[in-house]
Amino acid sequence: NQYIAQKDRYDKMQYRRCGKSGIKLPLLSLGLWHNFGDQDDFENSRNLLRKAFDNGITHFDLANNYGPPYGSAEKNFGKIFQEDFKDYRDQLIISTKAGWDMWPGPHGNFGSRKYLIASLDQSLKRMGLEYVDIFYHHRPDPETPLEETMGALDQIVRQGKALYVGISQYSAEDTLKASEILKDLGTPFLIHQPRYNMMDRWVENGLLDTLEKVGIGSIVFSPLEQGILTSKYLRGIPEDSRAATEGSYLDKSQITDEVVNQIQQLDKIAQNRDQSLAQMAVAWLLKDKRVTSVLVGVSKVSQLEDNIEAIKNLHFNDTELKEINTILNY
Ligand code: NDP
Repeated sequence: NQYIAQKDRYDKMQYRRCGKSGIKLPLLSLGLWHNFGDQDDFENSRNLLRKAFDNGITHFDLANNYGPPYGSAEKNFGKIFQEDFKDYRDQLIISTKAGWDMWPGPHGNFGSRKYLIASLDQSLKRMGLEYVDIFYHHRPDPETPLEETMGALDQIVRQGKALYVGISQYSAEDTLKASEILKDLGTPFLIHQPRYNMMDRWVENGLLDTLEKVGIGSIVFSPLEQGILTSKYLRGIPEDSRAATEGSYLDKSQITDEVVNQIQQLDKIAQNRDQSLAQMAVAWLLKDKRVTSVLVGVSKVSQLEDNIEAIKNLHFNDTELKEINTILNY
């Protein structure tokens, strides 16, 4: 059935300017790390993208090696894009990345010019796109000179293969260095993609300050701690969860008694706010204006519907914030 996007989609979402740029991102964006590979249900993947766009989620985040197998999330996204979203290309912000392992040998990983440029060419082919809106270096490379990696990002923009560039998981210090190199080159450095949630707050030790100073936005990944900060694990480990899935990055052993105790207490605070725990976890991130967008993953349309509702209440009083900190030992 032919997809026609809902007309009122832009009334349902709010948008934040990404640093000091012309781009505005939706408060929630959709990540394709899981649930878009060849082993996943293709029609479910399609429904997730449709549901997202119908709610004003204009940003889809990919990477070369999302799947499994590597590349398959981009391939499946490309197929859905051609069938459903081609007419909406100019309303979409599509990103991809390179920096983690992708193909064998020394140039299928990390941060060389060789790797980044070849990888984006492959990504564009898989997705059937002429350009991406944002291309990221996916993680810092301790060995390749930063000048080479940033030079590759600059070249990619000059080739017209990406409109803006970003980096992911770089420290505050390396972010500042990268921004200086990119500024000298005249490259549009739009965004940083760090891991950030109530349980993992490393960005508060300098990174967010640096981003604000330099005028770069942020989009935060694993905002729900891969599902731990939802009602999913309050009473055991469901079979259809990421923690129960072999080979996923969330292991059952991470759902300890202490964690369950913490999320049960957090859930009570969420209930008093008339929010689900997932909604409170998203809202907690968005209370800081330096967070441009919260990058959620979802395996079901119902989860997306749940998470989107978070934007209805982004305010926390001091008591709530203190209680959350106490529960999580901050
Ligand atoms: P989340 O912390 O949002 O976890 C997503 C998972 O939580 C879902 O797949 C689902 O898992 C569960 N979930 C989500 N919403 C609900 C809900 N309302 N109720 C119950 N369970 C829910 O994020 P991810 O770790 O998936 O990361 C999000 C995106 O960030 C990725 O897709 C990717 O684009 C990006 N990312 C970037 C990285 C980087 O290095 N730059 C690294 C990791 C991610 P379940 O399967 O159990 O249903």
